[in-house]
Amino acid sequence: MSGRSDELYQKILELRAQRLGVSPQEAERVDRSKPLFLLAADVAAERLGISPEEVLAADLQRMETSPYPTPECLTPDEVEDLVEAGVEPGGLEVQVGVTAASAAQVVPLPKARLDHLRSCDACRTLLAASRPEQWRRAEFRRFLDAEFPRVSTAQDRAAGRPSSCPGSA
Ligand SMILES: [Zn+2]
Repeated sequence: MSGRSDELYQKILELRAQRLGVSPQEAERVDRSKPLFLLAADVAAERLGISPEEVLAADLQRMETSPYPTPECLTPDEVEDLVEAGVEPGGLEVQVGVTAASAAQVVPLPKARLDHLRSCDACRTLLAASRPEQWRRAEFRRFLDAEFPRVSTAQDRAAGRPSSCPGSA
């Protein structure tokens, strides 16, 4: 393996270790042919002192008994509107705490829908997951730029685009 691909391999291993919550040494021993959900079940089983089958059964039961989505839960269109408006679940209190007129400019949903969002963990989680944090976006972009600078530049040139996306930091 060349020095560059060895470095890339180490980085991927570190990311896998972070994702699974194990050390890089343990991540290297993980069976790569196994689907990620089974790997995650193995890790959770070890942490909880139960079998991977019990972890999966508990996950399934949680999904079967989950009340989500309720009739009041946000629709995909509403989530999209909130994401496009740049509403962060954590910033919601501040943004709807202003007067109704200016809140309507910031948040594209009626107050009743926002009240539901404030009270529903599942909807807040969905919104958060639909809108990666800025530092994660920046980290991902740095990773791509560092690992694939020539590829992205060549593709951008072929497509007639500038080599970096304007307006995204
Ligand atoms: Zn909800």
